[in-house]
Amino acid sequence: MPIYDITLTISNDLPVWPGDQPVQLERTQDMRHGDLYTLSHLNATVHLGTHLDAPRHFVRDGYGVDQIDLRKLIGPCYVVDLPDVDHIDAQTLEQANIPAHTTRLLCRTRNSRYWAQADRVFHTNFVAIEPSGAEWIVQRDIQLVGIDYFSVGAYDSVIPTHEILLRNNIVAVEGLDLSRIEPGEYQLICLPLKLKDCDGAPVRAVLMREE
Ligand SMILES: [Zn+2]
Repeated sequence: MPIYDITLTISNDLPVWPGDQPVQLERTQDMRHGDLYTLSHLNATVHLGTHLDAPRHFVRDGYGVDQIDLRKLIGPCYVVDLPDVDHIDAQTLEQANIPAHTTRLLCRTRNSRYWAQADRVFHTNFVAIEPSGAEWIVQRDIQLVGIDYFSVGAYDSVIPTHEILLRNNIVAVEGLDLSRIEPGEYQLICLPLKLKDCDGAPVRAVLMREE
């Protein structure tokens, strides 16, 4: 079964949210320069590259990434292709032929073209999920939703979409690279670093599908 890596590679030129400090991945010891071993340090936001948000990110007493039920993060997943939309609202999702049994949903949009082009600029006009789309996801009893840019909510209105999803304990996965992924049914594995009580954490996310 092929494994499709849908994780962004963490490096110093990865775009970060405006105002966040740039990623610092530094080699502090290097055998190629005569050191006895090679050792690196990473200094970055936990909402780094491909990552997920725990309820704590937007819910004051919400739980952290270490408390997320692992069953939400592993299992069947549907990738929906929405190449021509500027935002994802309830109507967009209603018309997208998403199978009724879907419990994990990844939205592939024009955002993924940035990853295909190795674009290193932060774009504020990315495609995101509108509050009505988030309500639709809640009503369909979806447990995990993913998007191919750094926020499930729009740049100028990040809070409402996050609040709706995270108050309902839906896992929000952000920064996915879906540029090489055909729409359809897969198995998803998407596991965060186990950071205590933390609002978010980087993930290694992969899709698998029998061919
Ligand atoms: Zn986040």
